[in-house]
Amino acid sequence: MNINEIFANLDYGPAPEARDMANGWLDEHGRKFGHFIDGRFTSHKKGFASINPATEEELAQISNGTKGDVDKAVKAARAALPMWQALSGFERAKYLYAIARQLQKHSRLFAVLESMDNGKVIRESRDSDIPLSIRHFYHHAGWAMHIDKRFTGYVPYGVCGQIIPWNFPLLMLSWKIAPALAAGNTLVLKPAEFTPLTALLFAQICSEIGLPGGVVNIVTGEGETGAAIVEHPDVDKIAFTGSTEVGKIIRKATAGTGKGLSLELGGKSPYIVFENADIDSAVEGLVDAIWFNQGEVCCAGSRLLVQESIETVFIEKLRARMDRLRVGDPLDKSMDMGALVAPVQVQKIKKMLEQGKKEGCTVYEAKGDVPANGSFLRPTLITDVSPANSLVCEEIFGPVLVSLSFRNPDEAVALANNTRYGLAASIWSENINLALDIAPRIKSGIVWINCTNQMDASAGFGGYRESGFGREGGAEGMVSYLKRDWEKKLKPCQAEPVRKVDGVKTSSTIDRTAKNYIGGKQARGDSGYSRQVVGADGALLGTVVDGNRKDIRNAVEAARKGFSWGSKSAHLRAQILYYLGENLDYRRKEFADRLRQMNGLAEEEAKNEVDLSIRRLFAFAGWADKYDGAVHNVPIRAVSVAMIEPIGVIGIVAPDNFALLASVSMLAPAIAMGNSIVLVPSQLSPLAMTDFYQVMETSDVPDGVINIITGKSHDLARTLAEHDGVDALWFVGELTGSSMVEKLSTGNLKQVWSSLGKDLDWTDGEKFDGDYFLQKATQVKNVWIPYGA
Ligand code: NDP
Repeated sequence: MNINEIFANLDYGPAPEARDMANGWLDEHGRKFGHFIDGRFTSHKKGFASINPATEEELAQISNGTKGDVDKAVKAARAALPMWQALSGFERAKYLYAIARQLQKHSRLFAVLESMDNGKVIRESRDSDIPLSIRHFYHHAGWAMHIDKRFTGYVPYGVCGQIIPWNFPLLMLSWKIAPALAAGNTLVLKPAEFTPLTALLFAQICSEIGLPGGVVNIVTGEGETGAAIVEHPDVDKIAFTGSTEVGKIIRKATAGTGKGLSLELGGKSPYIVFENADIDSAVEGLVDAIWFNQGEVCCAGSRLLVQESIETVFIEKLRARMDRLRVGDPLDKSMDMGALVAPVQVQKIKKMLEQGKKEGCTVYEAKGDVPANGSFLRPTLITDVSPANSLVCEEIFGPVLVSLSFRNPDEAVALANNTRYGLAASIWSENINLALDIAPRIKSGIVWINCTNQMDASAGFGGYRESGFGREGGAEGMVSYLKRDWEKKLKPCQAEPVRKVDGVKTSSTIDRTAKNYIGGKQARGDSGYSRQVVGADGALLGTVVDGNRKDIRNAVEAARKGFSWGSKSAHLRAQILYYLGENLDYRRKEFADRLRQMNGLAEEEAKNEVDLSIRRLFAFAGWADKYDGAVHNVPIRAVSVAMIEPIGVIGIVAPDNFALLASVSMLAPAIAMGNSIVLVPSQLSPLAMTDFYQVMETSDVPDGVINIITGKSHDLARTLAEHDGVDALWFVGELTGSSMVEKLSTGNLKQVWSSLGKDLDWTDGEKFDGDYFLQKATQVKNVWIPYGA
């Protein structure tokens, strides 16, 4: 084409990035790789090929990690741990800094290798994946320096197992490795089978900077290799990014083991465009939201929700823009979209599209050319869909956008939240009042206002609901790699002895069965059965409802109605907690007597438990308006406002001992943060909490905020764990119970905290007056707002 012709058609010419350097690196290794264990590459063993999805050429042969390989890597990580933890924060920071510098120096090699292995366009690997990876190591070098000051009383988990997907191979690695190392952990990481190459190049960098052997270990392999890491008994924490399906398998596999767990899972994020949006910007943003990285992005804005009044014009502009997107050679610098990761992904998406068509939707594919060979798909738009269409509900993980319309803001919110996921959302409106009214109503870990796909190492990234739990990035992410030091020292608790009624001591004052407390009222149990409450001395003290599934369901329903409590001001919540404290104080003697009867406590001990309960209510009244968020300094013209939000409905199963204090210690932080709760009090000694009804009734606790069901803890815990209306569950009890609730929580991936059969000293204010439960009662939503633009 000559210059005149170029001027005439204004088309792009080819602008290929050289691949020699990447080929040279692959050749240096004979295109065969082993694992990186204890600071060295092992020799190559039987495995699989890593294929360039754009050209279908084989890039290298990769070893398939066996259980034995994983074991060696875990042993190396364990052996390196004391040395790594003995280093000062400054020493660790220097290693992180050195990694960042080396990544920077080799950024071109990393970018080309990433594009060859994954199929993403070089423009994105060069300008997004690699710079963000580098940024993570710089940012976390800072955390290594300051961790002791910011996280006093925390210790690292130990050996971390990390499993990552194929869509952002180096970036996901950096999100996992940088905070783990900064916190003082060592690790074993498994990259995805499709995209192991940049992880192996990263291993080489670790070796070149002199990172001590065993601190970072990389074992390549398939799903089974990942499972071997998850199941290894000497791994202390699992950090996983991938599909919700595999996340659930991992949740089950780690149940009852005490391993820390953070899950970054899938999404079906809404992209909401109001009629008062800057339409051209919103169209441009949408191109980035759904066609960045071929749509293989967990937080992709894959559900367009556009206001009905502008739907026609918006879709017209969008189609025109789609038609101009260029799909082709990922190493061509002027391409907009590259290849999908593998043919199997293309087939999967085509099948989903066929199914969607059968369900009645219209499929529009962009008009541009697409290479005949390789894993390419056109940008695709789905219209004429109902909210129940599989393409609207399922994560497609490809360049496919579904479009729905809404009439008013309430409908937009309802549609946005009509998903099991909750990773991200974009809101487009030139009316800041509207945008900031919608942001808190969306159930997702990230909200972008008039922008999309913004991420930074200083701002936590992660989801609500079935998009997982835990955050990556910033202080929020550091917490995922740290544990309270006292948690590591807990001892197993002794089971309470079974109590039998001593006929001689049976009092004649049993005149009623204490009821359940549901929706602000005392409620009879569904079954009509009751349980005897026997004092420590064998005296029959009374009877309580033997709660069942139906009682729990009623309580959860009431708690969901009570959840508007979360939108009340923190000041009001504090007032009610103070009021509870005040009213409990008024009845101190009565409660102390009750504790003495039930648990055989000495007078002083009983009084002390009541006093501590009052103090705890005051402590969390005090916290209600102080445990708040942050504004992150992100390196773009925006701020990321980390809002602390309640989780929703929390199920709480209290232990047998500390019949009043343990329940109050969990109830108070949960409601201080705006959650509503369903509490199962001590199975053995429930009367302190049934007496508490009267304290609640005189303290203006709104209906449905605190619901109490008495009965057999284990059975009620099971129902709470299985109930999809419960968003989080706290269980204090024996290890088998912890294991059960963690396993059963996978229905909606509720966040579970359990005591794992350990003995907790509820009288310890250092532990339980502070933010231990506040953290568990909240989740962070990062709202990105243009600022200074
Ligand atoms: P998968 O869940 O299939 O795989 C993720 C990783 O887990 C891979 O390394 C995989 O190995 C491994 N794995 C597979 N089975 C098991 C198992 N039973 N036990 C342990 N590890 C296992 O996800 P994809 O790789 O297909 O990635 C796409 C998914 O990741 C999407 O759903 C996407 O939304 C999500 N994602 C979420 C992100 C977030 O931050 N929330 C970010 C990026 C992606 P192998 O490669 O051999 O299968």
